[in-house]
Amino acid sequence: MREVVIVGAGFAGSYLAWRLAERGIDVLVFEEHPRIGEPPHCAGVLGLDGLARIGLLSLVRARGLILTEIRGMRLVSYRRVRTVLAERPFAAIVDRPGLDKLVASLAADRGAEIMTSTKVTQVSLDGRARTTRGEFKARIVVCAEGARAALLRMLGMRQPAVVPAAQVDVKTSRAIDSDVVEVVMLTRDFFGWVVPLGEREARVGLASRTVKPLLSLVRRIAKWRLGDVEVRRVFGGLVVVSGPRRRFSLGRVTCIGDCAGQTKPTTGGGVFLSGLSGLILSRVVESVLSGRGRLDDYDRLWWRLMSGHISYMRALRRVMSIFGLNTVGLLLTLLPSEVLELLLPVSRESFDLQAYSVVKALSRVLRPRLSG
Ligand SMILES: Cc1cc2nc3c(=O)[nH]c(=O)nc-3n(C[C@H](O)[C@H](O)[C@H](O)COP(=O)(O)OP(=O)(O)OC[C@H]3O[C@@H](n4cnc5c(N)ncnc54)[C@H](O)[C@@H]3O)c2cc1C
Repeated sequence: MREVVIVGAGFAGSYLAWRLAERGIDVLVFEEHPRIGEPPHCAGVLGLDGLARIGLLSLVRARGLILTEIRGMRLVSYRRVRTVLAERPFAAIVDRPGLDKLVASLAADRGAEIMTSTKVTQVSLDGRARTTRGEFKARIVVCAEGARAALLRMLGMRQPAVVPAAQVDVKTSRAIDSDVVEVVMLTRDFFGWVVPLGEREARVGLASRTVKPLLSLVRRIAKWRLGDVEVRRVFGGLVVVSGPRRRFSLGRVTCIGDCAGQTKPTTGGGVFLSGLSGLILSRVVESVLSGRGRLDDYDRLWWRLMSGHISYMRALRRVMSIFGLNTVGLLLTLLPSEVLELLLPVSRESFDLQAYSVVKALSRVLRPRLSG
């Protein structure tokens, strides 16, 4: 019997495997694809503060995985464009397949076993994982299977709400700002993005349930924002927008990452929250294995730490869906610069935990009234 089996060597699964192996826990990871990090689906925009908090910033820098650092955000609505620049970089565009490979190699170096080309076909509440290489039994099974959450659904746990996305990597003849990310707010339900990968290369994407076919609007956005482009790569994915599930654990099974809904409800960004969850879950697993704790302590601890931030982000998401993101986008571009600067998460601490921007904006607006 293994101590922990993890399904999926994406960021969430590999990061958890690293943190568990560091604690001397026996861990086996199954990955259905032959190569870690492939096929990619992420835009790669990660907060610098978040990367530092989960212990990866210096490693990511040392391995040359930062393609460019970001200190500005440009809001693009159908009528107006506004740019907010911070004094220092607050985010980075990271080579995502490279990041997943780095974290998997850290896990393997600490003794985690990673079996690629092995699909898990079923997990059960008593800790069994049926795979294409036979059945394995573990004291704890962690699903880190990504947004489709197929195994969790078999256990009767719902799939988180997702929005389909399409992306293209392009080369352009026009010089682009390599330190500014564009947020393109044209559709009602979700936004698009133009992410610099270098001076003349960019990643353009859009997530939406309503636009069909998505890819042709992505190509139009690329042409609109960047001029004539040469498409180098086309890829897609599912952005999780529901926010985290109430309960992650059932029997000997728990979950982490996209399948647990652990993304920011505002943007669908999930790398930082997956890392934070890995830190929490690795502590809980250690106490469960030593007989001092229960697996659902993870659920309680997670929500105790994160409920404030998640509630803020869910409220923002609700506002966006009531008014439509295209309308909210237009209104934002009409705001005075000092308010816009406060609302957009362009500081290192507010990029990943966006409640900070809202609190900062509210306190700035209310402070003169309270003191007057
Ligand atoms: C278009 C798009 C853009 C995004 N941009 C950003 C961004 O800029 N910043 C950010 O922070 N987040 C972003 N995200 C979200 C981010 O990619 C995810 O939150 C993050 O990758 C979560 O990782 P995960 O390990 O939970 O899932 P995944 O990365 O999907 O990994 C799941 C792994 O499990 C494997 N697997 C699945 N089922 C099985 C099985 N049955 N047996 C064995 N293996 C299995 C899969 O092959 C995969 O390797 C984006 C998402 C999308 C779709």
